[in-house]
Parts: sequence; structure tokens; C-alpha cells
Amino acid sequence: MVERRLEKQICPECGVTSVVEILYGMPSSDAFEDAERGDFILGGCVIIGNDPSRGCTSCGWRGEVPGSSQA
Ligand SMILES: [Zn+2]
Repeated sequence: MVERRLEKQICPECGVTSVVEILYGMPSSDAFEDAERGDFILGGCVIIGNDPSRGCTSCGWRGEVPGSSQA
């Protein structure tokens, strides 16, 4: 099992530290449990190409957080 680094970031929309990674693809059962805890968001299995990598579990905002580049 892959260990995930969960660093929640501040949402630019609502200001709450609830911004987590959006997980695309077919989630495992573990992923469902983590998503229910708010550790990340399930983005679904359809990937368009420029999907946001971060989402807010508080207000539903999705996008990119400045300075959070993983590249
Ligand atoms: Zn928010």
C-alpha cells in the first residue's frame, strides 16, 4: 500500500485548511474510507486532461493552490 503524505492547505475560496488532493481513477476500498474522513477527494474515473489537482472538502472549490506544485 502506498503511503500518502497528507498536507492540507488553505482554501483560497473559504480560507479553511481543508484543501486536499483530488484522487482520480478507480479508487480502492481504502481510498473510499480516506475520502470519507476528508483526507482527499474522489475525482471520479473520467480524466479530462486539465483537471484540478486540489479540492476543498469544506466549500467544494477545486483548482490549483499556488506554491503547491508537485512537479
Ligand atoms: Zn473552501
